[in-house]
Amino acid sequence: MWFYGGRFDASMGGAAAGIVVENVFIRASDIAANRIYSPGPGPIADADQRPLSYFIAHEVTHSDVARRFGRLMMLRYPMWLVEGYADYVGKGGDFDFDLNHKLFMEGDRAMNFGSSGLYREFHLKTAYLLDKQRKTLSQVFSDPPGDAQVETWLREYRPLRDFKDR
Ligand SMILES: [Zn+2]
Repeated sequence: MWFYGGRFDASMGGAAAGIVVENVFIRASDIAANRIYSPGPGPIADADQRPLSYFIAHEVTHSDVARRFGRLMMLRYPMWLVEGYADYVGKGGDFDFDLNHKLFMEGDRAMNFGSSGLYREFHLKTAYLLDKQRKTLSQVFSDPPGDAQVETWLREYRPLRDFKDR
């Protein structure tokens, strides 16, 4: 995983669709418990939403996207789309769009990949295009909007749910 993952780092949960080999790599895991072993002393971030099955589905999605949109898709498409779609599939629907949108609007650290290392902001952007704009995957990949454009749409988006009562 350290080498074929292409990052010379093995602290991630998995790797796939590398330039050199097509294999999917997943870090050491407790299969019966459906969890990966954390690379650090504590549990992994967002552990509840990221069991072992999530990591497998996320990485296999990268392979599927590479087969559909080209081997170099990791280089050709924006990171928010590549990782956002892998999380969209990987989390199998376990994603509260309006709650994550609220956190995004508040500038929550979890919604910033640069500070959290999580793909939640990418997932939110991809889910917005697929579920709110009702675009097909082919439409999104054939002409991905710019990151700034998606952020503008997200800031204009008004959720149906009201969080004031919570
Ligand atoms: Zn990924």
